[in-house]
Amino acid sequence: MYYGGWGWRPYMSVAQRQAQAMRKIAQLKKKGHVVSPVEIEGRGIATTFWGKAWCENLERYSDYANRLPRGRTYVRNGSVIDLQIAFGEVKALVSGSSIYKVAVKITPVSKARWKSICKDCAGAIDSLVELLQGRFSKGVMERICRENNGLFPSPKEIQFSCSCPDWAYMCKHVAAVLYGIGARLDRQPELLFRLHKLDEKELISSAGRELPLAKKGGDSGKILSTGDLSELFGLDLAKSGAPTSPLSSTRASQNKSAKEMRGRKQVVRPGGRQRSP
Ligand SMILES: [Zn+2]
Repeated sequence: MYYGGWGWRPYMSVAQRQAQAMRKIAQLKKKGHVVSPVEIEGRGIATTFWGKAWCENLERYSDYANRLPRGRTYVRNGSVIDLQIAFGEVKALVSGSSIYKVAVKITPVSKARWKSICKDCAGAIDSLVELLQGRFSKGVMERICRENNGLFPSPKEIQFSCSCPDWAYMCKHVAAVLYGIGARLDRQPELLFRLHKLDEKELISSAGRELPLAKKGGDSGKILSTGDLSELFGLDLAKSGAPTSPLSSTRASQNKSAKEMRGRKQVVRPGGRQRSP
């Protein structure tokens, strides 16, 4: 039991929360609302490049480190009963001690940043299918996942609120929704572009083949596995090496970003704690 702004609330077991979630979903459907619950199958919250990259981006920020794990369990047991991604905002309903409304605002990627991403990736992605499946070189992955300058938001670009009593410090409902976005992008990666109001087709181009990340030597540079993603986000740092010029060598740029991230991890960012009105 704890006291919150809405009075005493009893502890609810997972089964009780799930039953509450089912009732709420039925009620919303009855009203004609198209409900989009986050359903996780299997052990991982995300299994593809886009879903994993979203989650691992969140996990690389030290100011979220203590708060995210609670959300992982919550999203896994089906507590996110509705999640809608729109331009600059994600709205969700989460079943906790009560049904809570969560809003996550994401600062859209600026035009300048998008232009720079498109320029750096010009000629390196052949088709929409390859893009959405995350089938591209490590150089492209590194560019897309780059801290503060890629497609995934940093804490200062994420604002959140929840109708529960303790949302200011990223409650488990907000954390569950942040992971829920990852799970949603796993199945519908195009929603990341809707979130930023970007046209993903601009990343696919036959022009500029001589530009930095354009693949050389056919498909050999493409990878299907996302096993190297953790390394890319500096989450699992076993390797080190002297970086040469950025992007001229994939390995060098990876080591460089890992090194940079290692340095940055000690900085506590205030972004995650900010209240939105
Ligand atoms: Zn909450």
